[in-house]
Formats: sequence, C-alpha cells, structure tokens
Amino acid sequence: MKHLISAKSLTKQDILSVIDRALHMQNVQKERNTRLLEGRIMAALFFEPSTRTRLSFETAMLRLGGNVISTENAKEFSSAVKGETLEDTIRVVGGYADVIVLRHNEIGAAARAASVSEVPVLSAGDGAGEHPSQALLDTFTIAKELGRTDDLTVGLVGDLMYGRTVHSLIYTLSQFSNIRFLCAAPSHTPLPDDLIKFATARGATVEFETNLAKVAGEVDVLYQTRIQKERFQSLEEYEASKGLYVIDESILEKMKPSSIIMHPLPRAGEITTAVDRDTRAAYFRQTHYGVPVRMALLLDSLTTDEGV
Ligand code: ASP
Repeated sequence: MKHLISAKSLTKQDILSVIDRALHMQNVQKERNTRLLEGRIMAALFFEPSTRTRLSFETAMLRLGGNVISTENAKEFSSAVKGETLEDTIRVVGGYADVIVLRHNEIGAAARAASVSEVPVLSAGDGAGEHPSQALLDTFTIAKELGRTDDLTVGLVGDLMYGRTVHSLIYTLSQFSNIRFLCAAPSHTPLPDDLIKFATARGATVEFETNLAKVAGEVDVLYQTRIQKERFQSLEEYEASKGLYVIDESILEKMKPSSIIMHPLPRAGEITTAVDRDTRAAYFRQTHYGVPVRMALLLDSLTTDEGV
C-alpha cells in the first residue's frame, strides 16, 4: 500500500517522479473537469489546526473528480474525546474512505495509523516530527522557481528543532548533489543531531551561523520558519526564541537577485509584510504549488498497476 509517512524513506527517484507528475497535474488542474479519481473518497482527519494542508489536499481531491469527508478538529469533535484510540479511529474511517490524510499532534502517529490501516495513509504532519507532503511541495517549489534541485545553498532559519517541515525538507534535499545547509536557529531550538547526521551521511554540508544577514547573502533559498509556540514546555524559552531572526527589507538587500524566500506558513512576524512585494518572496506561490503536488500524491496512492 502506498502510504506517505516520512520523507526519510523517499529515494531521489521517488521525489523526481512526484515532481514530474505534479508538473503534469498543473495542466490537469486547469482543465477543471478531470474524472481521474471519480467515485473515490478522501478522508481528512485533522487533530491539529491547519489551513493550507487540509484545504489543498481537499482541493486536490476535488480537482481530480473525487470526494472528501473531513474532520478539522478531531481532537475536540471526534470520538478521541471519548477515549477512542487513533488505531480504532483509523480502522473505522478506512471503511468509509479510500485514502486517509492524517494530521496528528504526536510524533509517530502517522506510522501507527499506517500499521493498522487498510487504506493508504498520507501524513499531513505528526507533531514535531515530520511533514512529508510539505517537503515534496517545497522541493517542487525549488525546482519550479530555480530550475534545479542540485547545487543549492539553503538557509534554514528559525525553529529547526520543532519545525517539522524543515526535518522533512532535509530528508528530500539531501538526496540531491552538492547541497549545503546553512542553519540559523535560536539556542533553544537547534537542528536535532539525527538530521545533521542524515544530511552529512548523504554528502550534504551542514553549517551553522548566527548572523542572518550573512546567511541571506550566501543562499539560493532562504527557508524561514515560525517559532512553534505550541511545542514549547516553557513560555520563557518561547519568548527567548521568537523575534531573533526576522526577514525584512534590510535582509532582502543582502540576497542574490536569483535567490528566493520560502516559508511553510503561517508566519508570525518572522517575515515583514514589506518583503511580500519583492519577486523573490516565493511563499505565497509555494502555497499554490501544494495543490498539484497533492494531486500527484493522491493519484499515486490510489493508482494500482492496473490503472486508477
Ligand atoms: N504549517 C506548517 C506545519 O504544519 C508550519 C507551521 O505550522 O509553522 O508544520
């Protein structure tokens, strides 16, 4: 079964084939009458807040002619409140839908769900763990905007410890050649060691820098993240971490004309709105790439060798 649980297990070929298929999906999306997944149902089970991920997965399914059932606040409004385990919920929903898109607050929840599911499970984020579909759309964004996925210096800025999108992005980009990560994180939210080891074992370079202006001057991609307030054990640590790295017009001035700024969004002050006017601000375009990429993922998970 074609689950998507982690970006760690994706090969370069897997990533390139999602990119290829998503390029095709950009055209399919324009047709507005595709029936590729007609009669199929996607369940969106969201135990944590979401705007982009849930709505773009739902849009992707609808654009493919499929249907959607959705619970956007499963932590409060599903039987989880009555004590139902995630495993039981997945067994039940698998009888209603052909594919389950799951966001959960616990690391490892997507893997647990997949282990009992009779239909494909696509992770839409598991706590501070991973966000594989975001990494695929981020990699697609880089391919579209810069025309390549090799030979990149990528600045990773902000909450590199709890920011799950960064974790998955390191897994995807490390599959490519000549990748250099330049990390700028507050001291309370450093990049976890296992990710540094993963990237270096695959030949990427991981460097650390505290001066954001210096990072900005060197990168092809400046990947900014939100300090993940909801994951902190202490409010003091959160307060000490936020606002340290803000991309504003002075940072833009340091950036190469050919570089881009990305952010998985939502932002909470770490990119000023004045930056939005600059063509290098790619973060809203990045959100739109989510639809064709998730169309590609849904098609892939629901396609067998015999066809859709
Ligand atoms: N939307 C992204 C996520 O769900 C990033 C964030 O929330 O800061 O991980």
